[in-house]
Amino acid sequence: MTTRKDVILSGIRPTGRLHFGNYFGAIQHFLRLQEQDHTCYYFIADYHALTTIKESTDYFRQTLDMLRTYIACGLDPAKSVIYRQSDLPSTAELALLLGMITNVGMLERGTTYKDAVSKLPGGTTSGAEGNPISYGLLGYPVLMSADILIVQANVVPVGDDQRQHVEITIDLAQRFNHRFGEVFTIPRSVDRGAIRLPGLDGGAKMGKSENNDLGLLDDPATVLKKLKAVPTTTDPAPLTTESNAPDDVIPQMPPSVGALYRFLSLLAPEEVYLDFVGKYRRGEKFYGTLKTTLAEHVNRFNAPIIDKFNAPGNDDAFVTEFLRENAKRVSPVALDTVESCRAAMGIGRSLHRA
Ligand code: ATP
Ligand code: MG
Repeated sequence: MTTRKDVILSGIRPTGRLHFGNYFGAIQHFLRLQEQDHTCYYFIADYHALTTIKESTDYFRQTLDMLRTYIACGLDPAKSVIYRQSDLPSTAELALLLGMITNVGMLERGTTYKDAVSKLPGGTTSGAEGNPISYGLLGYPVLMSADILIVQANVVPVGDDQRQHVEITIDLAQRFNHRFGEVFTIPRSVDRGAIRLPGLDGGAKMGKSENNDLGLLDDPATVLKKLKAVPTTTDPAPLTTESNAPDDVIPQMPPSVGALYRFLSLLAPEEVYLDFVGKYRRGEKFYGTLKTTLAEHVNRFNAPIIDKFNAPGNDDAFVTEFLRENAKRVSPVALDTVESCRAAMGIGRSLHRA
């Protein structure tokens, strides 16, 4: 997927506790990449969290808990550079500079912006109460471009939802280099090849902000409660496929039942998964045992993560210190980019920065 010595960048919003979607969609790939010979930058996207802010929220607390969870999952702050976006305020400066060559029409075609508009009453930005769509949300792809370009990343692993935003980044970087000289590395998006995990409500995507998640720090009582609440009342229609592969059978199930099978296929040994596919085919009454069996496997997966999350060395002081250290590691790269960008556009280098 990647060549030697790639500079890889990926971000995660500090919008809540990490869940299985985050693990199988992102964290497990971070773990694999950190063992290879790449420079990996992972940032906690706290500025991005503000694009949907309604009231003051303790994002810093959530940032610390997310980092402790990352560490508990095995991410190694010595191998990957994990930093907080707002510890690189030069990102905001770069976003401002990039904004000067960004076409508003391109932002209005952005998927995140269009989704937000479509959810407004009447589907228009005017006339709605307050200011539900901020300048910050419209400009989100510019800030994301700054995140990528500031560290000269050449590889950005993305899910489907983010591909269009990386296209915008490529467009901006090419336009900038063409007009003002070669400042930016042109990045490319690579498909993580990760599956998208459904929510416990059967929704297409588990999300921190969706209230449909199975958390990596959920204790056994919470896990059981959440799984028992998954709707399994629909009578299963017979499967029309001979294959037992998750990608073949799960789409034929009612969505919330499919979600349970998806988790089982990821967490339980294959024979357990196949046994339950057999029960489904035979139309047996098995949802109760499916849920308790799945709960056992979820708990087995979560137990070491919860232990390491609570381990004495993995506390707020520890993660705060490594955030500080990592900000120092990434700052010189970032400042160098911003200074080159300022110089290329003609305002000259900053007179006060070292
Ligand atoms: P929010 O609901 O606040 O947007 P989220 O749960 O979608 O939170 P993000 O911070 O947006 O999480 O994304 C973090 C990473 O986790 C991204 O790389 C994203 O692709 C991945 N991810 C999030 N949800 C899922 C999911 N359900 N399945 C697979 N990957 C996921
Ligand atoms: Mg998201």
